[in-house]
Amino acid sequence: EDTINKIAAGEVIERPASVVKELVENSIDAEATSVTIDIKDAGKSLISIIDNGTGIMRDDLPHVFERHATSKIKDIDDLMTVRTLGFRGEAMSSIASVANIELESQSEKDILGSRLVIKSGKIIENREISTSIGTSIKVKNLFYNTPARFKFLKSDKTELNYISDTVEKIAFSNTHVAIKYIVNDDIIFHTPGNGDLLSVIQCIFGTKAAKMMLPVSYSNELLSINGYISKPEFSKGNSTYMIFSINKRIIKNNMLKEAVKTAYKSFLMNNRFPVSILNIDIEPDKIDVNVHPAKAEVKFSDDRSIFNLVYYSLNQTLTSNET
Ligand code: ADP
Ligand code: MG
Repeated sequence: EDTINKIAAGEVIERPASVVKELVENSIDAEATSVTIDIKDAGKSLISIIDNGTGIMRDDLPHVFERHATSKIKDIDDLMTVRTLGFRGEAMSSIASVANIELESQSEKDILGSRLVIKSGKIIENREISTSIGTSIKVKNLFYNTPARFKFLKSDKTELNYISDTVEKIAFSNTHVAIKYIVNDDIIFHTPGNGDLLSVIQCIFGTKAAKMMLPVSYSNELLSINGYISKPEFSKGNSTYMIFSINKRIIKNNMLKEAVKTAYKSFLMNNRFPVSILNIDIEPDKIDVNVHPAKAEVKFSDDRSIFNLVYYSLNQTLTSNET
């Protein structure tokens, strides 16, 4: 059981950034409107996530760390319509098998909250406390018991880059959540959480960059596309600034990248790439998010028409910017 958990953990929890992603997604699934992410030593010594979401009921708390414990889907049919970011029930058990955890949570359905401490995979403390509604999780000494995995980690600088990238992308795709990102006691950014993507871009990329962005907005009966793309004179030497989310989930999808590149074809020189942040909303049964455990990849049931719609909406923005 312990070994199986560690193997499973390897699938979901590759590096500190994976922990951050899973925990912040849980906060968002719990309808938090405010999430504070606090990182020490590139997440190796501390990853702390505090949210004001629904909290975890006291009776449910010990079960949260059991494998396949999910409160989000009841049976296999729900997979087709899942709108939450998580649904596998693997993250919490995986994290608990490779790190020490201090969790405090209070559900509005309980009079008191709970504090749970897990060390070496065992619950060593579980008591009632009074705290505010929501959840706070501290993940300490990540990979302390899997030295091979610890050794595989890159430098602090690189691991921190992975974390920042993850937090930024979550902030871009969840503009209704105020995200406060703290690294080694410095506040890196704090998004307003008012739904305005341009303010998030400004928080993260700066005022100058935000001024170089053009709005994209399109919707039909199949989907809606909302976001910002850079003016052609503001381009990058690599394609890492082409960011996509589907139903608030950050995804990787080459077809979408191609659609953006194609739209810029007559506007940008070779080897220059736009900055684009596009949030797509679509009926969940039109996509398949179940491709990979880390859920970064998504398949569409109709690639061709999505390509065309993205291309079309960007092309409209770019040509109207010219006139
Ligand atoms: P999943 O997100 O796939 O359901 P996880 O292992 O990430 O699985 O989490 C297990 C369960 O723990 C969730 O289904 C949820 O009920 C609960 N949970 C985890 N984090 C939070 C949180 N921040 N607020 C409320 N509930 C949470
Ligand atoms: Mg989850």
